[in-house]
Amino acid sequence: MSESEPPRRKTLSLKSGVAAPGGPPPLERMVKPSARATVFTPSAAPPPPPPAPAPVGDWKCKPCGTRFDPPTELADEDHVRCPACNARLGLASDFRADPPNVAKLRARYLKKA
Ligand SMILES: [Zn+2]
Repeated sequence: MSESEPPRRKTLSLKSGVAAPGGPPPLERMVKPSARATVFTPSAAPPPPPPAPAPVGDWKCKPCGTRFDPPTELADEDHVRCPACNARLGLASDFRADPPNVAKLRARYLKKA
């Protein structure tokens, strides 16, 4: 008679590790982890994690927020322009000054030496 089976038997088998006084049979314990390991072993190599977006540029254009590096080929009296919005951000000499002459620039220096 299948109806005579008490329903709590099912619950007991679900958490047999806790409820069963004798504990689960050792064979079952050994089978479960190995089965899991088989499932979790990927057949194909996992995709490499995306490289962290390296911050480009030590400067940030104040008008538009784009990060950039002042071009090194500019002459000191040339204006550095934002590569994104083309705003004049200041003289190349002010960018190259050490420390940069940020008071005259429309860009923010992100690197704090
Ligand atoms: Zn800009």
